[in-house]
Amino acid sequence: MIIGVPKEVKTDEYRIAVLPVGVEELVSRGHDVLVEAGAGLGSGLPDHDYLKAGAELCASADEIFERADMIVKVKEPQPEECSKVRSGQIVFTYFHFAASLELTNAMIQSGGTCIAYETLRDDNGRLPLLTPMSEVAGRMSIQQGAKYLERPQMGRGILLGGVPGVAPAHITILGGGVVGANAAKIAAGFQADVAILDTNLDRLRYLDDVMPPNVNCLYSDRYTILEQLRRADLVIGSVLIPGAKAPQLVRAEDLRLMNPGSVVIDVAVDQGGCIETSHPTTHSHPTFIVDDVVHYCVANMPGAVGRTSTFALCNATLPWVISLADNGLEKAIEQFTPLRAAVNIDRGNVVNKAVADVFGLPY
Ligand code: NAD
Repeated sequence: MIIGVPKEVKTDEYRIAVLPVGVEELVSRGHDVLVEAGAGLGSGLPDHDYLKAGAELCASADEIFERADMIVKVKEPQPEECSKVRSGQIVFTYFHFAASLELTNAMIQSGGTCIAYETLRDDNGRLPLLTPMSEVAGRMSIQQGAKYLERPQMGRGILLGGVPGVAPAHITILGGGVVGANAAKIAAGFQADVAILDTNLDRLRYLDDVMPPNVNCLYSDRYTILEQLRRADLVIGSVLIPGAKAPQLVRAEDLRLMNPGSVVIDVAVDQGGCIETSHPTTHSHPTFIVDDVVHYCVANMPGAVGRTSTFALCNATLPWVISLADNGLEKAIEQFTPLRAAVNIDRGNVVNKAVADVFGLPY
């Protein structure tokens, strides 16, 4: 199979979808790997490392999209990439279709087959290709929250851990999955006062077992959320209903309950966001303010720490890239059933129920 790895073009995106070691593995199995020149530089991976591993360097993304049977990417195709996807071509990347009708329509029209990292579900119900980026985003959310709570960034001027004699920040984490647990772990390390909310009682029991004493695990209902908003200096939005639009747990009018200068980091913004007032932002312009509450809604948080994120992502994706390349889509799905849930659009037809339901599309 010919596998194409174009340079990411989303604003401030520094990741690449395949490491040199991945190229070497694919080439050793008889595949051809086309890598766009300069695609690895944002992650500190120079072209000569890819050449040494056996890749063919291409000068443009156009050439890669024209020649490859399967495109392996990091972020969803951007408008300038959508028109390059060919009928029958496999595109294996993050898509987050539920957040964009425009992208969904563009991919339907392309006739391509879209395999979404974020809906590949293993036999234990986990999302192994979302997990590494959720680990990064969860840890990073506290780092960003600490920064935007500083007064020069329009925050309340609060130090997460406080100091002897002064109370630490109160951090509310909505959703105790991978993002939430990683955020809680880092927040707890800062000695903040942390509450993590989830609707899954088994998950709350688990978190209660493993988290340090400054993390309280609470059931997520409307009353508890409102009570938390009154106390919170920092709110992390990290809920997920796989494939679907995120539930809006914080309504626009709820912001008035929060202290001026509080910060919300809506990590779930890539699925539409769990704060009603969220909209996607970029690393160049990460924040905006609504009702005196600082909103940070960067949809590709891991992109800013490209090197860590590229290695974390590729460690998880390579086995799936290999199985698709070695077997082709049909056989790979038969042998590796989690891939079935990852196919969101098959040759122009929506085959993921959650995506179809969001937009009322035939399924
Ligand atoms: P996850 O499935 O591990 O966790 C989601 C959690 O939300 C689950 O524990 C679930 O029980 C909980 N939940 C569902 N409904 C809830 C509710 N009403 N109240 C409270 N909790 C509820 O998912 P994850 O890997 O932690 O990802 C969370 C979100 O972060 C996803 O949308 C993911 O795409 C996003 N994400 C964004 C970035 C970014 O750069 N912005 C990076 C990585 C992940």
